[in-house]
Amino acid sequence: MTDVAEIDIKAGATANGVKRVSILGSTGSVGCSTIRLIEEAPDAFDIAVLTAHSNATELAKQAKALDADIAVIADQDKYQELKDLLQGTSIEVAAGEDALIEAAAEPVDWTMSAIVGAAGLAPTLSSIKTGQVVALANKEALVCAGDIVMAEVAKKQAHLLPVDSEHNAIFQVFEQDQLSSIERIILTASGGPFHGKCHEFMAFVTPDQALAHPNWDMGAKISIDSATMMNKGLELIEAYHLFPVEKDQIDIIVHPQSVVHSMVEYGDGSVLAQMGSPDMRTPISYALGWPDRYSFKAERLDLAKISSLTFFEPDETLFPALRLAREALTAGGGAPAILNAANEIAVSAFLKRKIGFLEIATIVDKVLQASNFGILHNIDDVMAADAWARSKASSLI
Ligand code: NAD
Ligand code: MG
Repeated sequence: MTDVAEIDIKAGATANGVKRVSILGSTGSVGCSTIRLIEEAPDAFDIAVLTAHSNATELAKQAKALDADIAVIADQDKYQELKDLLQGTSIEVAAGEDALIEAAAEPVDWTMSAIVGAAGLAPTLSSIKTGQVVALANKEALVCAGDIVMAEVAKKQAHLLPVDSEHNAIFQVFEQDQLSSIERIILTASGGPFHGKCHEFMAFVTPDQALAHPNWDMGAKISIDSATMMNKGLELIEAYHLFPVEKDQIDIIVHPQSVVHSMVEYGDGSVLAQMGSPDMRTPISYALGWPDRYSFKAERLDLAKISSLTFFEPDETLFPALRLAREALTAGGGAPAILNAANEIAVSAFLKRKIGFLEIATIVDKVLQASNFGILHNIDDVMAADAWARSKASSLI
């Protein structure tokens, strides 16, 4: 592993050469934003691994443009297509879940974990096990296996850098040496496209309406999670695992402008916040450059133009997913993994128009109520809880 202290951020490279990078989920929203940053200083980076679920065309295009060493497609059926697309290049091609896990263990200086859902857990753990610097966008890995992931981070002395904008914000203002003075962390939530709407309105919203996030351009699953506010619930659980605070020291506040990305409150009444325009390249860039800062032409924050920042208490009656996530965090054990898996199934069903918007939280609630999973000791336990919840949720659709 490269000594991260040697990174020359202005050049985007390590002092002794280029920074070797893998991107898990390179064809997604976060993956593409990461690539856009890397393309600003292409000579400073050497791309080891790029991965995708099933979009062989896009993966091949990225692998060629960035001259990657390995391209992995999770969907085995797409192997030949990817192979054909990369014929005549020296790019190694692989397919399937095991290949993904193996490629994630490639020794590199920095890995972006940006696969969506619990599917990102095993590859993320694989990167962590090599003691790397892992930039974590894949919040679901921490939701379903937070204790296991964090134990592995400690054991391998890996660095897990939060990319989720809220957690990245907290990471930037969380003074580790002032731990005893930290009273709470405050996650901001945009409120999603249905902030201020009523129950009757939400009962009939379409996937297109739910996908239209007012501030952030993101993948489909997280966009729906933002609309139900399950995203903030998942982030609550994510924050609990990332930062040394108790469950009741994490608060949520709705802030529709998405300018204050989150805050840390100290015992002297000081509240430290990180602000910026809503652009995922800022937290990704922070993780890419860490422990220094990489400069790029992000849209600068113009507070006079924005003129007012507003804040509201979250409404857990209108957005029950938030309550369900807090209850799952309190219950512990397998509850967060079950919440996450049931939610993945319900969101997918909503996107396919098989259920209504409000049924997403109802299904998650029913699955949680039917579950009796205790402590998850290892990844096999997590996968068993995940599989049970998926099956239970599917039976309710
Ligand atoms: P996305 O849907 O745009 O992209 C997901 C990526 O994962 C794609 O490359 C896809 O091919 C790959 N993938 C999907 N299913 C897979 C599977 N079963 N096996 C292997 N690969 C698979 O998602 P996104 O919006 O980029 O989000 C990625 C992660 O980052 C999520 O966990 C999300 O919650 C988190 N995140 C995203 C944003 C954002 O702005 N998009 C912000 C904060 C956190
Ligand atoms: Mg977020």
